[in-house]
Amino acid sequence: KAYASYDPFMSSIIRPVRAHVSFKDVAGIQDVKEELEEIVDFLKNPARYKRYGITLPKGVLLVGPPGVGKTMIAKAVAGEASVPFFYQSGATFVQIYVGMGAKRVKELFSQAKAHAPSIIFIDEIDAVGRARGGMRNDERESTLNQLLTEMDGFEDSSGVIVIAATNKIDIIDEALLRSGRFDRRIFISLPDKNDRLEIIKAYMRNKPTEINLEELANMSVGFSGAALATFVNEAAINALRRGSTILELADFVAVRQKVLMGKKKVLSFSDEEKKIQALYQAAKALCAYWFEIDFDKISIVNDRLKDMDREIESKTQMLSRIKVYLAGMVATKLAYNEKFTNATEDLSRATAIAKEMVEVYGMGEKLIPYESDVLLILENSQAELEHFLEGMNTILTKISDELYSVESISKVRLKAIIDEVL
Ligand code: ADP
Repeated sequence: KAYASYDPFMSSIIRPVRAHVSFKDVAGIQDVKEELEEIVDFLKNPARYKRYGITLPKGVLLVGPPGVGKTMIAKAVAGEASVPFFYQSGATFVQIYVGMGAKRVKELFSQAKAHAPSIIFIDEIDAVGRARGGMRNDERESTLNQLLTEMDGFEDSSGVIVIAATNKIDIIDEALLRSGRFDRRIFISLPDKNDRLEIIKAYMRNKPTEINLEELANMSVGFSGAALATFVNEAAINALRRGSTILELADFVAVRQKVLMGKKKVLSFSDEEKKIQALYQAAKALCAYWFEIDFDKISIVNDRLKDMDREIESKTQMLSRIKVYLAGMVATKLAYNEKFTNATEDLSRATAIAKEMVEVYGMGEKLIPYESDVLLILENSQAELEHFLEGMNTILTKISDELYSVESISKVRLKAIIDEVL
């Protein structure tokens, strides 16, 4: 307590760096770069924006799994705009110095303002911004409250942009997502085949090889950008050990498993598995389109259905969401007369919606909730889907083939396929 006013760590820790990363260093994720272009422009010249009274988001939340380049792209924004970059990790806010979280947040913002225009980057913001409730944690709450206060306190025109990253948006406190805080959200998913190829090209640039790099993209489904960097590096080490002057396919084959093991959760499909998964996701994409559940892009490894952009949702709309989640299972059952383990998460999502319909909104057969109503909703949806997907078989196959070969499909492209057939 005696040292409360003197904090030897504070000034040494909260110090900006110059980011020597630019957009061209970040391979792939073209759409993300485009979204951030405006922020770069603002940071280059905040006064001009101020003059025109243009307001920009103060906070941008980058959402995506580890290693997809969230930190890298945030740094690149700073690099592109040549502004100081303040890095803080949400976990260290609340873990390292007990009783200091709030103070550090305050210091961070005051430093950033003093160096404006500048960027604050908060990695793993979920460590601070986890939804309240459940186990109380005073340290985290006071840190979070300070963060909310700071975000509300500074002017749009102050020239400070706060970028935060998380891989778990569903546990983030609503308060942080409210307007004027992190109200711009940018999703970054695992790279699809084209993006993997771009990243591989970047890391193979100075490495002698005769391999067709597309083959490497094919054998790295589910790898993040970080995993791909490791993949190339490990292969180079392998080649060096063999005494070879060039990297050969065998070097990549030899280290692939090791890279996968290092990233336990990463998906790696055999050809057969990839076919099944492509059909599974294709059915979801088709249903999302058909039943008007919004999305930009659905890939072989994940889907990102947009949040319902409405206060009131109808029973029909809720049923549509259920259908999207059941679609993959129904489609693979129709095609293979078999069920697969890739359905688990979607089934529980569908069940959760059905339960909510019955228990919260009285949308079951009777107003009073019956357990059997949940089952009925799920079974009826399944039956409808069987009928629907059978009728759509030609289209479904086309979408599935496309997902199999390029691994992701945009809503626009999906519409084109449907229009072509119908
Ligand atoms: P995240 O913050 O999403 O966990 P990082 O930005 O820390 O991911 O990425 C870790 C490393 O992986 C980067 O430093 C970079 O070497 C590599 N990497 C990730 N994505 C890309 C990409 N799109 N292009 C080039 N390198 C990438």
